Formats: sequence, structure tokens, C-alpha cells
Amino acid sequence: MTKLTIFTAYNNAKKELKEAGIDTFGFEARQIIRHITGYDNSAIMAKYAEQLTPFQQTMYNDVLRRRKERYPLQYILGEWSFYGIDFYVGEGVLVPRADTETLVDYGLEFLKGKENAEVLDLCSGSGCIAVAVAKNSEAKVDAVEKYDTAYGYLEKNIERNKAQVTAIKDDVYTFNPSKKYDLILSNPPYISADEMEIIDEETSYEPDTALYGGEDGLTFYRFIAKEYKKHLKSGGALGFEVGFKQSDTVKAILSEQGYKNIGTKTDMDGIQRVVFGTVD
Ligand code: GLN
Repeated sequence: MTKLTIFTAYNNAKKELKEAGIDTFGFEARQIIRHITGYDNSAIMAKYAEQLTPFQQTMYNDVLRRRKERYPLQYILGEWSFYGIDFYVGEGVLVPRADTETLVDYGLEFLKGKENAEVLDLCSGSGCIAVAVAKNSEAKVDAVEKYDTAYGYLEKNIERNKAQVTAIKDDVYTFNPSKKYDLILSNPPYISADEMEIIDEETSYEPDTALYGGEDGLTFYRFIAKEYKKHLKSGGALGFEVGFKQSDTVKAILSEQGYKNIGTKTDMDGIQRVVFGTVD
């Protein structure tokens, strides 16, 4: 096996990822070298002529092969940053996405100036929303997750970030909180049956249970909007992340259920990504 230096490994990774059609090949090659060497970007620059050890080289080949098969980079790295906070991720839990930061922004704006606020995050997954809200406000957050693997990540991420979040292992459909909340947030599964057929290869490695939102993708919105209204305090708010082109329908669902001050918030790509409403 030809011995690779950090420099040749990096350049080769860039080339192979590019050839595999991965748009963010430069960024990803850097992340992979960081992962394998344990060096940060400046150490990589300083030590570019260093040779990979046989162990690192085996790892490198393995990582590159898996990534070229479109296995998510986030799962390979085992962690990912969301809202400037690091989260453990792996198979069985949805990877935190930058789009979802829009929901955190909404939540934090709503909580501004509220003391002793109580927040509920439904379909919490890795806990990225719950932890980001807790770390950036005074609020106490309850996070509900049903599935074993995802729940394990939720617990680890709360612990890793020392966040004021209580993990609750329950099903959103049966959970019956003993208190009322100022704010309920959720990024539920929202992909429709038709769209499930055409998801990205990367996304196909993520759990269907975090993606599939029933035939039309709206099952969770209908249920949560209806059944969790009674769990909101007077003046409280419900905020959802929604999929591309779902905002009008989800606004209508909130309206049918009697929510007021219904609105949307746009993500970085100009997509209406958050739909919210309040109760009297
Ligand atoms: N945003 C994810 C995607 O489009 C879906 C996440 C979800 O269903 N909540 O891949």
C-alpha cells in the first residue's frame, strides 16, 4: 500500500469525492482528515507532510469508500454541529439540519423576556432543538422521544452539553404531560408517501420513523395541533418545522384548531420553514 501523507490523503479525498458527485467535496475532505488524524484545521496545515499510520490509512480508505456510497458524513464523523453546539449522531437518529435552526430562532424569540418558561419538544430525536433552546434561554425543556436509539442520543446530548433538558421516553400519541407549557416545538416526520420514494441517497440511511409523516406527510401536524392545544398555557405558542410547500396547509390546520396570531418564519433558502400560532 502506498503510504499517504496528510497532504496527499486530503487531495485524493477531494478528488474522489468530487468524482463521486459530492458537491461539498472540499469541506468534506477536510472533515474526514480531521476525523482520522484528530487534528484541527491549523494542525493539518502545519503537519501536511506527516504520514498516516497504517491504522489511519485503513480508516481513511474505509471512510472514503462509505462516503462514496453516500453514507452520511455526519454518521461517519459521529457528531455534528447545530446552532453552534456539538451533538452525537449515528444511525437511528435524524441528522440535525441547518434548516431546523429556524425553529430554534423562533422559539428563542418567543421566549425572550419570559421568566421560568416551560418548553416541550416533541419528536426530539438527537435533542438538537431542545438542547439549543435550553442553552440559549432560561427555559426548562422537556423532550419527548419514542425510539430507543434516538432516545439514547437524546440522553447523551443532554449530558454532553449539560443542558437543562428532561428526556422523556414516550410516544407523542400517548404522552400525557402533567403540566402546561409556554411553548411547544416540534420537527415531526413530515415526508409524504410519494416523496419517500425520491429522498436523497444520504437521507435513505436515516430512520424512516423520523421522516415519514403518513400518506400526505401531515399526520403529526394534525394530531399535535389538535391534542396538544390543551397542554399550552394561556398565551402559549406552538411552533412547527414544516417541509417545502407545507406551510399553507399547516397554517390552515392551526387555524381550524382555533390558534391565533398564525405566522411563518423563513429559512436561509427563503423557504417558509416554521409555522406557528398561539392560544388565548
Ligand atoms: N428535513 C428533512 C428532510 O427533508 C425531513 C425531516 C423531517 O421529516 N422532519 O430530509
